Amino acid sequence: MTKIRFHPKDETLASYIRGTLDVGRRVLVSAHIEVCASCSRVLATSDHLGGSILEAADPAPLEINALQKVLAQIEGLAASPAPEKTSGHPFGLRTLSGYELGPWRWVGPGVHWRSVSVPADHGARVFMLKAAPGTSLPHHTHTGTELTLILQGAFAHQGGVFGAGDFEEADGTIEHQPVVEPDGECICLVAMEGQLQLLGFLGRILQPFVRM
Ligand SMILES: [Zn+2]
Repeated sequence: MTKIRFHPKDETLASYIRGTLDVGRRVLVSAHIEVCASCSRVLATSDHLGGSILEAADPAPLEINALQKVLAQIEGLAASPAPEKTSGHPFGLRTLSGYELGPWRWVGPGVHWRSVSVPADHGARVFMLKAAPGTSLPHHTHTGTELTLILQGAFAHQGGVFGAGDFEEADGTIEHQPVVEPDGECICLVAMEGQLQLLGFLGRILQPFVRM
């Protein structure tokens, strides 16, 4: 995996640990932590998680797996022990195993969409987008927040180049148009709250889906 350069904001990680994120954003942050050694370390050493919680959870040497178990206990995501290998999980992510993934559906030139069924919670919407190399994704603005985790490939916009494992938080102050890098298709996991305003042809096609 390429080096991860973009991470959740500190306040987002803190909310994740406190269990105050809606389920959509929780899925995104949890999936990022699975692949990000840096965020795993930050969480392990943070005041929020430090001392009593970790000691109570497991006196053994702290590994990433142990942290995952602690996090799972905190937020009640996983009731059963974490499996040894992740190869059997969608995109290698244990987080995604708990949710039903819909079939890929064509939504525009070079772009496919699939649902990720999470429990209804404050209107959170989670879905995946798959875009062919060089595709311009819809130009859009936000009235809420949008979290994106890149699962495969890369895209670029005014904020930089986002590759596998990178995490983006966009809000109403950001207006961007990602373009998929030319060397491979890009698959993203997206959680969205609030209204998204999609502009242009592809946007009009996508709009009914992201409102689901
Ligand atoms: Zn990270």
